[in-house]
Amino acid sequence: MPEHDVLVIGAGLAGQRAALSAAREGASVGIISKVHPVRSHSNAAQGGINAALNPEDSWESHAYDTVKGSDFLGDQDAIEIMCREAPDELLELEHMGVTFHRNPEGLLGTRAFGGASAARTYYVADITGQAILHVLYEQLMKHSEVRRYEEWFTTGLVLDESGHCAGAITRDLRDGSMELFKAKSVILATGGNGQCFKPTTNALICTGDGISMAYRIGAPLMDMEMVQYHPTTLAGNGLLITEGARGEGAHLYNALGERFMEKYAPNKMELASRDVVSRAEQTEINEGRGFPDGTVALDITVVPRKRVHEALREIVNVGRDFAGVDITKEPIHIKPGNHYAMGGIKTDVDGQTEVPGLYAAGECACVSVHGGNRLGAN
Ligand SMILES: Cc1cc2nc3c(=O)[nH]c(=O)nc-3n(C[C@H](O)[C@H](O)[C@H](O)COP(=O)(O)OP(=O)(O)OC[C@H]3O[C@@H](n4cnc5c(N)ncnc54)[C@H](O)[C@@H]3O)c2cc1C
Repeated sequence: MPEHDVLVIGAGLAGQRAALSAAREGASVGIISKVHPVRSHSNAAQGGINAALNPEDSWESHAYDTVKGSDFLGDQDAIEIMCREAPDELLELEHMGVTFHRNPEGLLGTRAFGGASAARTYYVADITGQAILHVLYEQLMKHSEVRRYEEWFTTGLVLDESGHCAGAITRDLRDGSMELFKAKSVILATGGNGQCFKPTTNALICTGDGISMAYRIGAPLMDMEMVQYHPTTLAGNGLLITEGARGEGAHLYNALGERFMEKYAPNKMELASRDVVSRAEQTEINEGRGFPDGTVALDITVVPRKRVHEALREIVNVGRDFAGVDITKEPIHIKPGNHYAMGGIKTDVDGQTEVPGLYAAGECACVSVHGGNRLGAN
């Protein structure tokens, strides 16, 4: 029976980062993933990661934007911690080796994101998640006390007689055998549940496994009604066109050629928060000002071509391969699509759930930093 101090279920950004911290504290760690860790869905994160690092910015401003973006439903104590700690965490990732974009002066460069009153999104082109995931994986490989169980599928959690979470039941996908893992504490980092919806930007593996496993052993869930729709997804398959496109200056038009965000958010325009832009698009479509395929248009041609190839190169490929559109030459048709689960397993600010010994982190968890709407890159 494999036995660890800490058993992390999920090896996306949240799980790998948690495993690294536990290993640094000297714990023996097992980390389980149903897919190879660098194929975790965090790999798909495009636009970047928010931190008020610039001296002209402040964590208070980041926190206020987050509270406002959450429709004033987020937990303000938790939001304060996230916004205060984000700059140090970003620098830590940079020191580990994440090649964040640098501006012409050689300093870390930012892009604007929706709902933010300052450009505070740090990024690696439009492959930020992939870049961080690979660096974290390298870091984990350095730690011999971390045992990786790659392509193992957890099917349930185990409670001991006192109601303490004591491990998990997991199937080795290579030979089908079942194994009982024993642990002093278990961290769920199993990601979101986007596959409950259609269309969604989430991969086929985002099936909410951890959320249901926790619920089955009595852990309360929170904010499950809060589901984020991203404003720019491809009609038909839900593939994401990053908010970074609007951050770089792209415009939204209806079929009448009107830049309709003037009506809905005259100050922030296309960079209003995601819920506002998604509702505006859907209103245009519902009221007959969309295109016949039930979409509106995202015009990236207003962004200089060189900049598109430098900062948005992945969506150049997505546009070409999945919509047959050269986004540097013509607008691309998009519509709102399911994107993010604000809700999840209820935790406190230390990730502790209401089941002793069970913790949760990342998209499967909910301490309600996002309230009714998550700001992109938060
Ligand atoms: C297309 C896209 C773009 C995004 N862009 C951004 C962005 O730019 N900035 C930003 O901040 N956020 C972005 N997000 C959101 C963000 O990427 C995710 O919320 C985040 O990466 C989730 O990380 P995670 O570690 O919680 O889960 P995931 O990365 O989804 O990892 C889940 C892990 O759990 C494992 N797992 C799940 N179930 C089981 C099981 N039963 N047994 C064993 N293992 C299991 C999986 O194998 C995987 O390793 C984006 C999301 C999408 C869909």
